Amino acid sequence: MQKLFSGWRIEPKARTLFGLVALGCVGFIVAIIALMYSSLAVVTDKANEIYAVRSIESVQGAIQTTIERMTSQVEDNTLWDDAVAHLYAPKLDRKWVYSTWGAVAQDDYGYDGVYVLDENFRVLEGYRNGQRQPDADLAMFGNGFASLIGLHGEALRSGAHPVSGLTYMKDGVAIVGISLVRPTKGVLTGHGATKRYLVMTRHMSAAMLTDLSETFRIDGIKLTPTTNSAEPYLRLVDASNQEVGRLTWILRQPGVEAVRAASSHIQMIAWLIGGVVLLVFGIAGYSLFRLAKNEQVARTFALTDNLSGLPNRRALFERLQKFGAMRGPVHKCVVFIDLDGFKDVNDVYGHSTGDKLIMIVAAALKEFLPKDGVLARMGGDEFAMLLGGKHADQDCQIFAEQALAFLTKPIKIGERTVQIGASIGIAAGDLKTCRSQELFRRADMAMYHSKSTGKARITWYDGELDAARMRKQALETGMRNGLTRDEFDVVYQPIVDARTQGVIAVEALVRWPRRPEGELFPDQFISLAESSGLIHPLGQFVLRKACQDVLHMPGLRLSVNISPAQFRDAEFESKVAGILAETGFPAERLELEVTEGYLIENPDRAIAAVGTLKALGVSIALDDFGTGYSSIGYLRRYNFDKIKIDKSLAGKVDRDPQAAALVAGTVNIANALGLAVTAEGVETEDHVRLLKLAGCHFLQGYYFSRPKSLADLHNLLAARAVA
Ligand code: C2E
Ligand code: CA
Ligand code: CA
Repeated sequence: MQKLFSGWRIEPKARTLFGLVALGCVGFIVAIIALMYSSLAVVTDKANEIYAVRSIESVQGAIQTTIERMTSQVEDNTLWDDAVAHLYAPKLDRKWVYSTWGAVAQDDYGYDGVYVLDENFRVLEGYRNGQRQPDADLAMFGNGFASLIGLHGEALRSGAHPVSGLTYMKDGVAIVGISLVRPTKGVLTGHGATKRYLVMTRHMSAAMLTDLSETFRIDGIKLTPTTNSAEPYLRLVDASNQEVGRLTWILRQPGVEAVRAASSHIQMIAWLIGGVVLLVFGIAGYSLFRLAKNEQVARTFALTDNLSGLPNRRALFERLQKFGAMRGPVHKCVVFIDLDGFKDVNDVYGHSTGDKLIMIVAAALKEFLPKDGVLARMGGDEFAMLLGGKHADQDCQIFAEQALAFLTKPIKIGERTVQIGASIGIAAGDLKTCRSQELFRRADMAMYHSKSTGKARITWYDGELDAARMRKQALETGMRNGLTRDEFDVVYQPIVDARTQGVIAVEALVRWPRRPEGELFPDQFISLAESSGLIHPLGQFVLRKACQDVLHMPGLRLSVNISPAQFRDAEFESKVAGILAETGFPAERLELEVTEGYLIENPDRAIAAVGTLKALGVSIALDDFGTGYSSIGYLRRYNFDKIKIDKSLAGKVDRDPQAAALVAGTVNIANALGLAVTAEGVETEDHVRLLKLAGCHFLQGYYFSRPKSLADLHNLLAARAVA
């Protein structure tokens, strides 16, 4: 098989489809995963946002709690009888203050500073981080503290409740709490206007904030003077709503953590979806592949000739079309081979032998196939070879010669040896200017030319073949129209009795006098009428017209020419009988002149037809004797009534001794077989003398009369009758 069919290839279209489906699947997986992750991102952002708001609330709560803790702390240390005793003593018991509070004024105890203030809020004694603060004064507690006193002065003085709040001190932001020192029973009596307040401070130190972070589970709480606006922060304000500082912290991202925690699940889901999609793709892809493969099998089957294994006609055309679709001028050459005599092999030896012959021929042609040539069986006994490239023409000529040499030699098929031949046509062209179909038509036409000009030859297509065909077509159309437009006529040439020279018969000869382009003679159109099938209506026209014309010339016989092609018509004899019945012309007066052609072509049918016609009463003459095979065998087999020696032989009797001898011999044989003999082409007195001498019974020719119109024939007969 040709390269065209080697191996499995998935069609490009199927491959594209395949790719598209794969791309679609990948796209689907990517889209699903992207969707999953984008919704996760939304969830993450939302969770983070919620947490950010929550964290502000938590930090605020933490600070609030710390302030409240300070409140209860100062309350615990002031609602105390011991403290009243030591602080309201005429002389402040500084030692007690130190041992009770000053020594332990450190972060760990919930306060880092402790101060005792009098009724005018003057600092009497103070400790910070265990150190005495001799210079401490009210201003040191900052604006926040002053505001607290301003706002809650009454409650403080009466000892109703302690107060705490934020303030900005020398060392930074601090929580400060203040309470009146008073006895457990609540009411302070016996000290006049003297009052003692206890102030406790707790600075927002790193340690304190760390403590806060841990207690409230908020990472990295820090005091900062400035904050990044993107981060959450908490404004710390004192009692007068003055900002004293800001707190920031590390914003945890619970959404991200959640996603991180869920990511293995998400991955699993992604894998699962991916897996399912891939499985679906796999199944779909496999079906697609199967489909494509089946289609490929069907295609290969449809493009292969089963008998020879060669590509078939369709495959070759597809191949040629592919070349045609290529850019630039593509020079192509096509060799068309039609076997001669293949039908005979089939008929005589049977189809299996015919099939074997095709296989042998296919194998042989493959041997001669040039590189890159494509050989195809076009059907029946036709092969074609297609070749492209610069050297295509020479290579095709060589291929055709080799093929012809092989095909014209005897071919062995098993036990048998058959003799066939081949008619070959070649056409070359540039596919840009000559379409592929056209190239084949040309090769085909060249092949037909080989066939019609004697077979066993190679013909290259040239424009003249087309021109000739056009002329033929025009002639055919003209004939068809001429038949309907009454352009044809029949003339009559007398046939005389050789002895008496009296007219005993006429031969009807067709004429085309009213042809618009000018008159044509039978030699110029009869063969085309035969090959085109127009001979049937034309022949009937002549027979009918002649029968009508000659009917009323009693005693005169009528000869009408019949083409071999007319014999091929199975209805021919009944048509003759029909015309005889229709015109009333007696069958006994009619003679049909037939040539050998068809008798050789189909002897059985010819014998039957001759038999039927003779049974009608019609006599049969073998026309043109001496031009073809003219074997005596035919004369015996066909039971003719007469032979007509052709003018090409009879007309030479005066000049050519061999022709004279042949005529004499023919007459002898005819006599022996009981056949009458007519000699044609009698032009001179010498002819008449010699042909008579040779024994011809009837004579026909210009010497006696040219073919004449019916009217002229009447005149001639009338004149002769008078003479
Ligand atoms: P054919 O049957 O051999 O007809 C005789 C031809 O020889 C006629 O030519 C005729 O004009 C010509 N002829 C007659 N006497 C002489 C002569 O002395 N010298 C020369 N040189 N020629 C002579 P035509 O009419 O041109 O016919 C040519 C051929 O055309 C006929 O040859 C016949 O084969 C065919 N034909 C004519 N009419 C018909 C027809 O109606 N049907 C068929 N099937 N064929 C016809
Ligand atoms: Ca004739
Ligand atoms: Ca003749």
